[in-house]
Amino acid sequence: MTVPQPPTSPTTTPLPITKPAAACPADTPTTTAAAPPSFTIPPLSLQIPTLTHPGATALLSNTIISTALPKHITTVLTHLYVSPKEPTTHLPPTKSVALFLRPMDGVAYTIGTQAVDGAKEIHFSVDYISRIAAARVKDEIAGVLVHELVHCFQYNGLNTCPSGLIEGIADWVRLRAKLAPPHWKRSTDGGWAAGYEKTGFFLEWLDQNKGDGKGGVVRKMNEWLRKNKYQEGKFWRECVGGEVGGLWKEYGKFVAGGGK
Ligand SMILES: [Zn+2]
Repeated sequence: MTVPQPPTSPTTTPLPITKPAAACPADTPTTTAAAPPSFTIPPLSLQIPTLTHPGATALLSNTIISTALPKHITTVLTHLYVSPKEPTTHLPPTKSVALFLRPMDGVAYTIGTQAVDGAKEIHFSVDYISRIAAARVKDEIAGVLVHELVHCFQYNGLNTCPSGLIEGIADWVRLRAKLAPPHWKRSTDGGWAAGYEKTGFFLEWLDQNKGDGKGGVVRKMNEWLRKNKYQEGKFWRECVGGEVGGLWKEYGKFVAGGGK
């Protein structure tokens, strides 16, 4: 007959459990700061095939990339979509964002620009990063990442949106995120669709003068581009309430007057 044996006691010593310190009343905030909107951050990854490149070292030593990327994504999503529950906007189905740091010409680009693609890849040049002045490196990296992340989450009129407007929206978010580089200035050279900061500053003026000043104009544009193919007259009338030619003329007077 077998007598059941008690289970052998574990030989390992349990680690002492540290009790969380009681909240100190002095630490309790008296006013509740608005929590940032809790957007879902898609899976993120990083690849650095040339890890010893000076540009890779510059990025890794100036930026905690594992926390910077989700922070920048929240910034982008807040500007384009306000919050996950905002009824007037619809979040895109971006499935993942992969950041590649590698030697290449130019600054950066994003593959899978149209929001329906799901999987996005940002390619960022370590050659470019290695040439940024030390005083600018942290902000410039953040600014470029915010710009490229806009491409990961913006709509493009079912592939019909003028690239100048796509790039303008990306730089408008960078401007609003207070990451505009010091050399940026308002300019009307090349027309409203010149792109980048030229179009970005125009969008900012439109929002301040024809919109709510809280980014409503750009969000309306992005939402419009989710559902419709770009048609110039219809797009500008429905998003801003006027023709782009007239709005651009008015903006030109503002810029010529010193932009005050
Ligand atoms: Zn771009």
